[in-house]
Amino acid sequence: MNQTPDYIKELRSQFPILKTKVYGKDLVYFDNAATTQKPLQVIERIQSYYTSENSNIHRGVHHLSQVATQDYEDARKLIQKHIGSNKESEIIFTKGTTDGINLVASSYGELLKEGDEILISAMEHHSNIVPWQLIAQKKNLSLKVIPIHENGELNMASFDELLSEKTKLISITHISNTLGTINPIKEIIKKAHIFGAKVLIDGAQSIQHGEINVSELDCDFFVFSGHKIFGPTGIGVLYGKEALLESMPPYQGGGDMIKRVSFDHTSFNELPFKFEAGTPNIIGGIALGTAIKFLKSIDTEQAFSYEKALLNYAEQELKKIDEMTIIGTATEKTSLVSFNVGQIHPFDIGTLLDKQGIAVRTGHHCTQPLMDFFKISGTLRASFAFYNTIEEVDVFIAALKRSLSLLK
Ligand code: PLP
Repeated sequence: MNQTPDYIKELRSQFPILKTKVYGKDLVYFDNAATTQKPLQVIERIQSYYTSENSNIHRGVHHLSQVATQDYEDARKLIQKHIGSNKESEIIFTKGTTDGINLVASSYGELLKEGDEILISAMEHHSNIVPWQLIAQKKNLSLKVIPIHENGELNMASFDELLSEKTKLISITHISNTLGTINPIKEIIKKAHIFGAKVLIDGAQSIQHGEINVSELDCDFFVFSGHKIFGPTGIGVLYGKEALLESMPPYQGGGDMIKRVSFDHTSFNELPFKFEAGTPNIIGGIALGTAIKFLKSIDTEQAFSYEKALLNYAEQELKKIDEMTIIGTATEKTSLVSFNVGQIHPFDIGTLLDKQGIAVRTGHHCTQPLMDFFKISGTLRASFAFYNTIEEVDVFIAALKRSLSLLK
């Protein structure tokens, strides 16, 4: 592959942290699947909020409260448009993907009856397993798992067999955080709807790597985290179809989610506030809006296709290393590569890479059942964003070879 294009260098310059030195070496940040770095715009927005705008929202008559409320609600509108939802009422601010899934599991789960079935897949993050186990136990539901093939693709023939009138909900990741597999969610949603089942898409790993249009997808729920799309931590979004959200009971009780409270009876606020109890992460919502504005200001088509080229280059170079096993070789794959080298523990390699300034993730990546499937304890994972460079891949490969020479 040639050198990093100028437009990527320009984009990169907007992320101050990427100039950091680690142990005196230039930081190579390949842990983007865990969290992405923040552009200057987002960092400055957080500072300007606390410098000149900080106040509580929705209930204030005073100037600062009105400005903050307007900015928070403007961010909701921006997010709504960005993901192709038709109504602001369908955009619920959450703490993140995990919180969004827990909300749906607890609230939609209350509507389910003994014997109803929920489908998840073998490649889910713990966030998309445990909430369903909790509600399944509580309500005597049946939780079934769609198996995968050795290359990390979903076994769609098994999915077809598992899907039935008993299936009430399918909760599935769009992109696997461990394998990089892009799941055929359009097909899954279409088939699910034939049986009247609802579909929740875990978009934690897809929102930052492509265009998402929930109306075109026709998914019933879509969840993502702000920190994985260049925004702050502690904020995320649950999209839900309005009629569905209307039918669901509140998740948590408290301020903002009520219309009228007495000791005998409480009536609930309209959507989206019915699901937003308590003072929210105000600057989180606003700065997530800023992150979306940043994305809108760049040529995402070019940036996303560059990311793909970066992944292909990294995989090509990794494959040249002796005893390399790449875990996750799906045809439709994006943005990250998981691997092991011989019997060396991923943690040992990760530690030596860290000493050379390279941030990769090691371990089970919150997908222990997937590790069991591959009969491994963990992997090394290099995950990319469009601000990563070809030169960084070269530095990473050289550092990996150096580490291996010490460990073999
Ligand atoms: N789902 C997937 C596929 C993920 O990759 C992650 C985080 O890595 C999550 C869910 C949980 O996201 P969060 O910790 O931001 O709630």
